[in-house]
Amino acid sequence: MKITDAQLKQIYAHAKETYPYECCGFLLGDFAGGGLVREVRPATNQNQERTDRFVISAVESLKVQNEADDAGLDVIGYYHSHPDYPPIPSQTDITEGAFPNVYFLITSIHEGMPLNTNVWRLADEGLRRFEGVALEIVDEAELKNDG
Ligand SMILES: [Zn+2]
Repeated sequence: MKITDAQLKQIYAHAKETYPYECCGFLLGDFAGGGLVREVRPATNQNQERTDRFVISAVESLKVQNEADDAGLDVIGYYHSHPDYPPIPSQTDITEGAFPNVYFLITSIHEGMPLNTNVWRLADEGLRRFEGVALEIVDEAELKNDG
């Protein structure tokens, strides 16, 4: 999956802002070319009780889906942070948060500082097993050329 440095920084800023709670949001873009992020859209985490969960409301999901449609983009994935936990899918991510085809970007944030980021995708819908996806940092210019 391809993302720009600025978009990644936007995710890191969101993760810092919500720490020690998880941040979450949408990745809008194109599936073509191995997944190209064109816009990072923060979402509101409806879960305020636990520091290891995120919940996006159906209303917000629908709104963003419609806006993506209007802009000629797809919701190609979701991002969330793992406060003081590695950027690997948790059991909850696997059992509740996994949808086929889309990318799951997870940023690990340790004591308020973003550490590292991994991208995951369901390897097989039936197995509910995630496989790692390479994350490539691209220039803004490359986004324009591909468009
Ligand atoms: Zn998670």
